[in-house]
Amino acid sequence: MADPIRIVFLGGLGEIGRNCMAVEQEGKILLIDCGLMFPDSDMHGIDLVLPDFTWLREQAHRIVGVVATHGHEDHVGALQYLLRELSFPIYGSAVTLGLARHRIEEAGLLGRTELITVRDGERRRIGPFDVEFIPVTHSVPHAHAIALHTPHGVVLHSGDFKLDLTPVDGRRTDLARIGELASSVGIRLLLADSTNAEEHGHAPSESSVGAVLRQLFAEQRGRRIITASFASHLHRIQQIADAAVANGRVVATLGLSMKKNLRLGLDLGIVNIPESSVVDIDDIGDMPPGKVCVISTGSQGEPMSALGLLARGENKWIKAGEHDTVILSSHAIPGNEGNVNRVIDGLLRAGVEVIHSGVADVHATGHAQADELKTYLSIARPEWYVPIHGEYRHLVANARLGILMGAPRDRVLLCEDGDVLELGDDGLQLTGRVPAGYLYVDGIVGDVGQGVLRDRRVLAEEGVVVVVVTVDVSTGKVLTGPEIITRGWVYAPEAEDLLDEACEAVAAAVERSLASGVRDVEQLEREVRRAAGKFVNERTKRRPMIVPVVMET
Ligand SMILES: [Zn+2]
Ligand SMILES: [Zn+2]
Repeated sequence: MADPIRIVFLGGLGEIGRNCMAVEQEGKILLIDCGLMFPDSDMHGIDLVLPDFTWLREQAHRIVGVVATHGHEDHVGALQYLLRELSFPIYGSAVTLGLARHRIEEAGLLGRTELITVRDGERRRIGPFDVEFIPVTHSVPHAHAIALHTPHGVVLHSGDFKLDLTPVDGRRTDLARIGELASSVGIRLLLADSTNAEEHGHAPSESSVGAVLRQLFAEQRGRRIITASFASHLHRIQQIADAAVANGRVVATLGLSMKKNLRLGLDLGIVNIPESSVVDIDDIGDMPPGKVCVISTGSQGEPMSALGLLARGENKWIKAGEHDTVILSSHAIPGNEGNVNRVIDGLLRAGVEVIHSGVADVHATGHAQADELKTYLSIARPEWYVPIHGEYRHLVANARLGILMGAPRDRVLLCEDGDVLELGDDGLQLTGRVPAGYLYVDGIVGDVGQGVLRDRRVLAEEGVVVVVVTVDVSTGKVLTGPEIITRGWVYAPEAEDLLDEACEAVAAAVERSLASGVRDVEQLEREVRRAAGKFVNERTKRRPMIVPVVMET
């Protein structure tokens, strides 16, 4: 009887992003994806959020590799951070590795990281793991589902996928192979993408976007067209380029990642644009607007992106105006709506015509909607079902689909980050927890920590009050102060009386403590904080950060 397989969820179950899962078999660990998450607006100053690496660090010697399902940042973007501490090979398609490579290279880790390219349908051993790479369609080319052939049956990880019957490259999600696994050995456990589980019906095909783009390009004759989409969405870029070339335009990229990724797509033969139709952004200046199509980054309204700068009139290469049409071939990720709206407003003010997914079908999602998940479930017929990849509501919606498609209620498990599952002869059960909190990145510092973030939130929302007092510990007298310095609490000129009163309240508290024999600086600081906090709260109903500074002579 083989030991059970353990599955450890390190991220992506309870949020969109930082997808990361570990599978343990015969004492070895295989990671599936290691992604990042973009911060919420209340995570002040945070650049990125990563999975908690605590558990992985402890298991370092047992990790045999990471399998990357596809090249999106929420699946490979945390690798460059984990690879600073640990070393293991990365397996994935040429596109997946090409996209992951950029970041790893930037971090200077390429020299000691082995990238191993796999082909569609390939089955290979990684340590004790028997791993099969099943093609799936998604919003980045050459994505994979992962089938692990374990002593306890097949564990199928759907990856991010959709069931597009007419994808741009004709490479469909391999339902035939999944059906074959289901009817031969059976699928013991299915872990499936929940992102769009709440959306009813079927996602539109990516090729439908191409038809809309061709139509729009024909209508915009004589005007310069600037499009924005995810730089990794090579099929979208292909369709934009096709529409451009068909209408006698040349294409130029704007934004570093767009340039790099187009180069990657052309090199791998995934993107095909006639050589004569690709020009450098430096060379479009003199061309008639109607002969140009610019493919830009910044579809999420990122303020420092090419499009973000363009909307503020700060782009080095292009000044947008009345001769321009901007097509946002994208959809705002939750949390980015505000930024996208600001970009649209900025462009409209400059006289630009803006076309976005709200007014034309210029975007199609890359994630399966409810009907696609139902189809997938009816083919895979898993013995156990665990929704992954999504906020809790998406996981719940996906679990319901599992039950709707005939899975017994007790065989559909709702898991969250940190949960540990064991799959053995007795079935699947939740057996433990590992740390799986957010790891905050600000600049190059790894862990900012929950405490720092809490402080920043208080500072941003309530401001800070610094109280400085100097005491003579030998005599037990206040020498100078209390002096109060504030930022973001009250408008100082109007608050002079208030500050004077606060000083008096603090002085009284400090003198009381000194009189009762207190000489310990930390204890005095606690007294200062309490007195100042009480006064501030009573008089202003606010709770700024109180920073007491007691100096002794
Ligand atoms: Zn994805
Ligand atoms: Zn994803």
